[in-house]
Amino acid sequence: MIEFHHVSLEYPITRTLALDDLNVHVRRGEFVYLVGHSGAGKSSFMNLILKRALPSRGEVYFSGEPLKRYRRARTAMHRRRIGMVFQDNQLLPHLNAFDNVTFALRVTGVKKVEWQERTREVLRLVGLEHKHGALPMQMSQGEQQRVAIARAIVCEPPVLLADEPTGNLDPDSSREVLRVLQNINLRGTTVIVATHARDLVETYRHRTLTLRKGRLVRDDPYGGYAL
Ligand code: ADP
Ligand code: ADP
Repeated sequence: MIEFHHVSLEYPITRTLALDDLNVHVRRGEFVYLVGHSGAGKSSFMNLILKRALPSRGEVYFSGEPLKRYRRARTAMHRRRIGMVFQDNQLLPHLNAFDNVTFALRVTGVKKVEWQERTREVLRLVGLEHKHGALPMQMSQGEQQRVAIARAIVCEPPVLLADEPTGNLDPDSSREVLRVLQNINLRGTTVIVATHARDLVETYRHRTLTLRKGRLVRDDPYGGYAL
C-alpha cells in the first residue's frame, strides 16, 4: 500500500540527510511501529507519506502510484484518506466530544444525514459513547486522545498515522489507546505508529521499523524494541 523505494530526504539549506536510502513496503492492513530517537527521521517519514515533503531521491508509492505524480487537487484528496493523530490531541476546546468528531465530516463528501450515525459509531469504537456531551476539559488526557482518534477515523481513511499518540499519557491510558488503535487495525485500517514507548512496543507486538540517523536499521516482523 505504501512503498518507499530508495528514498532519501535531504533538507535544503542545512543539508540534513533526514532519511537515507529507505526501502520499505507497508502492506494494506498492517500495524507498524516506527521507532527511533528524536531526529531519527520519524516525522520526515510521515511527511513523505502525506506528501508534505518530497524525496530528494527515490520514490514513494501509494497503492502502486508514485506520489510525485499527484497534482494539487489529487494531493488534497490523498491527504483526506489519511487519518492523523498527534501527541497533543488538538481538539477544539469549545466543542464537546460529539461535535469535535462531527466537525471532521464537514469538509468531506459524507452526507449530512449520515453524520450523527457515523459519529456515534466511532465514539462507540473508542469506548466513549457515554462521553458524547463532554467538553475536552471535562475528560482525562486519555479520553481526549481517544476522541482525537475517533475524529481521525470518522471519514474511514484506509490509513491512520499516529505520531507519539501516547506521549502525554499515563501507562493505563496509553494501553487503552493502543488497544483502540489495534481494534481500528482489525477493522482493516493500515496503522502506523511513531513512538518512543518501549513498554508498549514490547507488550503489543507488531512489525517494528527502527530508524537511526535516517537509516532503516531494523525491520522486525515480530516487533520488539531495539534502540
Ligand atoms: P519529534 O521528535 O517529536 O518528531 P522534532 O523536534 O524532531 O520532534 O521535530 C518537530 C518539528 O520540527 C517537525 O515538524 C520537524 O520537521 C521540524 N524540525 C525538526 N528539526 C528541524 C530543523 N533542524 N529545522 C527546521 N525544522 C525542524
Ligand atoms: P524525528 O521525527 O525522528 O524526531 P525528524 O524527521 O523530525 O525526526 O528529523 C530528522 C532530521 O531532519 C533531524 O536531524 C532534524 O533536525 C532534521 N529536520 C527535520 N525537519 C527539518 C526541516 N524542516 N528542515 C531542516 N532539517 C529538518
